[in-house]
Amino acid sequence: MQEHLLGPMTCLLCDAPVKKWLTTTNGGVGPKENFDIFQCTNCFSTLINPVPVNLGIYYLDYHSIPKGSNWKRAVKACKNRLAVVNGYVGKSASILDVGAGSGTFVAAASENGHLTFAIEQDKSCRENIEVFMPGRVVEDLFAYDKKDFAVPDVVTLWHVFEHIPDPNDFLAQVSRIFPTTTKIIIEVPNAQSWLFKIMRSRWPHLDAPRHVFLPSKKGIECVAQRNGMRASRIRNRDNAAWAAFSLSHFGNRVGESRLVQICRRIVQILFTPFFFLETGIQSSTSTYLLVRDPK
Ligand SMILES: [Zn+2]
Repeated sequence: MQEHLLGPMTCLLCDAPVKKWLTTTNGGVGPKENFDIFQCTNCFSTLINPVPVNLGIYYLDYHSIPKGSNWKRAVKACKNRLAVVNGYVGKSASILDVGAGSGTFVAAASENGHLTFAIEQDKSCRENIEVFMPGRVVEDLFAYDKKDFAVPDVVTLWHVFEHIPDPNDFLAQVSRIFPTTTKIIIEVPNAQSWLFKIMRSRWPHLDAPRHVFLPSKKGIECVAQRNGMRASRIRNRDNAAWAAFSLSHFGNRVGESRLVQICRRIVQILFTPFFFLETGIQSSTSTYLLVRDPK
């Protein structure tokens, strides 16, 4: 049994009281434990409580680094994220990608004329990024702050924000370190997704305890406002594939065969077109743009 720390019984985003909603089992790497999910009485965002003290053990073998043609395919698959940055920030932007993983997005952004920097906690992922972006990847925001890097036009978090134990503190740090001109793009599973309401504890995007919380649109707006930012929902064509992921990737996925992985992927591809119709407040995943007014 891992050591757990009982957190506050208030929403991580809007600070309103939360109430117990359901219990889920870790379907990913790490100990197969149950986690209680609480729901905010104001914004309907969710959080897990208690939170494991050592979250690191739920990330062992979590990251995979694609090689050869798989790497090229994964970099190419970042085209929709690039379209979001090009459209809402601009071409030739300076980008800080937080939770860069293997680095496929920063690789794609570099190839497309952006000046990229990365923050990644996993050592083997950082080593992979170092190969094509030497000297421009660090472990955390504190390390980034100490370097003499360019001021980012945008900080991106692609399915990363929900992994951060204190999202309000993270945005406060971003506000403190970067000028008001720096925008933030956050893509997250949506706590108010209609599929979440149907699949409940079996919804793959719940992913406890790696996803410490899941935000609703109102939750993102609240936490943005607490840090002097304004949030608006923006469109990313990837949202459809992430919705189809809900149907193709449920259940325990540790140690499954290559064949099962391929079948899941095919189901995801087949279902994706249907989810292009999915819009609005009940979508499976949402992308947000956070901006600040000049002081
Ligand atoms: Zn809330």
